[in-house]
Amino acid sequence: MRVIDELVANAARYAECYECPGAPSEPRLKLAIVTCMDARFDVWSVLGLRHGDAHVIRNAGGVVTADTRRSLAISQRLLETTEIMIIHHTDCGATKITEDEFREAVFRDTGIRPDWAAEAFPKDPNGDVVQSIARIRADELIPQRQRVYGFVWDVETGELRRVKA
Ligand code: ZN
Repeated sequence: MRVIDELVANAARYAECYECPGAPSEPRLKLAIVTCMDARFDVWSVLGLRHGDAHVIRNAGGVVTADTRRSLAISQRLLETTEIMIIHHTDCGATKITEDEFREAVFRDTGIRPDWAAEAFPKDPNGDVVQSIARIRADELIPQRQRVYGFVWDVETGELRRVKA
């Protein structure tokens, strides 16, 4: 609980000098970003984003799941975003497991088979960026599907590389 208490205290200090009441909920850059939850990837700093600039949708691997597509559909239909960035990264946990091994390990530990896919991409993050873009382009519930751009961020060098799809 100590960590949580510290964070709550940080939030109290933040509220004392909070300066954005009344800011629009529509992202200023009309941009949604799908990326991994990896704690090393500070998407705001890497891209130079500011408060209010973009939607950031994160999960393990930055995978385009049904729930990711739900968020993108809402982002575009209700909050006027028109462009999507997919950003995976090197040394991702999703590249270190296989679907079958992970499911088997969960079942061994708990007796329960997950009703979701781990969405491992053991070979390389580039290939999964291409797959993620393909999933978005195939989803008719997301109105703007052409301006989808893929990238891999390198955790060693800090560089962001474009992935052609
Ligand atoms: Zn990751």
